[in-house]
Amino acid sequence: MPETHPVDAISQRMDLAGIADGLRAASSFLITAHINPDGDAVGSMLAMAHFLRALGKTDIVCVNDDPVPSIYAWLPGAQDVLSSDVKPADLAPDAVILLDAGKKARVGRAAEWFPPTAPLFVLDHHLEEHPDGVRCFVDPSYSATGEILVDLFLTANVPIDKAAAECLYVAIATDTGGFRFSNTKPRTHRYAALLLEAGIDAAQISSRVFEVMSPEKFELLRRVLDRMQREADGRLAYTYITARDMTEVCAKVEDLDGIVNFARNIMGVEVGILFRETDPQTTKVSIRASAPFNAAAFLAAYGGGGHKAAAGATVHAPLNTVRADIIERTIKLLGEGK
Ligand code: 5GP
Ligand code: MN
Repeated sequence: MPETHPVDAISQRMDLAGIADGLRAASSFLITAHINPDGDAVGSMLAMAHFLRALGKTDIVCVNDDPVPSIYAWLPGAQDVLSSDVKPADLAPDAVILLDAGKKARVGRAAEWFPPTAPLFVLDHHLEEHPDGVRCFVDPSYSATGEILVDLFLTANVPIDKAAAECLYVAIATDTGGFRFSNTKPRTHRYAALLLEAGIDAAQISSRVFEVMSPEKFELLRRVLDRMQREADGRLAYTYITARDMTEVCAKVEDLDGIVNFARNIMGVEVGILFRETDPQTTKVSIRASAPFNAAAFLAAYGGGGHKAAAGATVHAPLNTVRADIIERTIKLLGEGK
């Protein structure tokens, strides 16, 4: 495919007009996002499907390794997201679109569905120097991948209908913590206003996404709060969840969403950490931090990534080992003023 609008030929970065031209030139699409999809991943996949349909495309498949979390299951199109467990025999997309992640490794088994010959489009807002795609728009100045997609609709002159607006609003509202995090910029609010003008019910969406919690999540929260520890004169707070907790309270992975914020929200805390034992040899780490601590840079040493203020990693070591190591290094960095 000719690259009509290359911005940086080496990493194949281009502007959104170039992305839109590339999408217009294709006829069948596979859309995916990172594993354990959050509101931005789900909302962006569905908004991209709406965008392509508005361009007159009909052959569109959305796939993810993990199910759409129940708090997003009401979004228009959510019921059509396939699980990567069973690949349709006739699947032959001529374009693959990766959203809210810059590397195929973040997609899990769904990456096995990518035909080697189909160009990979990447639209993402994570800190990633070397995205995997051949047509990439990666810009951490956007609060959410959903905010990039609003820009794509505007650039391509595609009207945003109510269904697309609901998906985009969920994407942006969740990644900005309800327009409260430092990634919320004037553009974020301007685009949210456009979505309100498309007729969405923002109060109802906020209630579904931010307020209602499953009884299982409530039970997890009880345990997590009870175990919260503070270190470094209260500048670090951390807690943990074991695999046994998850089974005992019948929690799903989606019930973990937002729990780390309780560590970060304690007054004086600069770094909040949640450690989760996924199995006896694997620990998922989630960090929320305020500057100058760079959570993504810190977790890059453990094979993770994300943003300065919010990052994650999956570490192949037992919970106790990972917790001791990360707490020690965090305290040291806080002492050095980093
Ligand atoms: P969370 O802690 O909520 O899982 O993730 C926080 C941020 O870090 C999200 O933007 C997420 O995409 C990113 N992130 C989480 N886990 C990983 C990981 O294992 N690798 C990378 N590169 N990013 C991650
Ligand atoms: Mn995101």
